[in-house]
Amino acid sequence: MVDKCANPTCSATFHRLGEGRLFIKEIDAGAGDGRARSREIRYCWLCDSCRRTMTVITERGKEVKVAPLPPSAPAARAAW
Ligand SMILES: [Zn+2]
Repeated sequence: MVDKCANPTCSATFHRLGEGRLFIKEIDAGAGDGRARSREIRYCWLCDSCRRTMTVITERGKEVKVAPLPPSAPAARAAW
């Protein structure tokens, strides 16, 4: 499912749920021609230290990437 922190510059490894934060994102994996739309689930995990400053976002519904949290936003408000 996931083996390490989604932050490319972090090498923390995933051991168990309850550590850090797991993000489950649905992306549009279709060919982009408007016909075959298929949805794909991506799992991303941020370790305990990265989740304080970063989040996982879906870009254009097709790409999952790590982004910094807005400095003033409490982590609990990151759900959307
Ligand atoms: Zn990390």
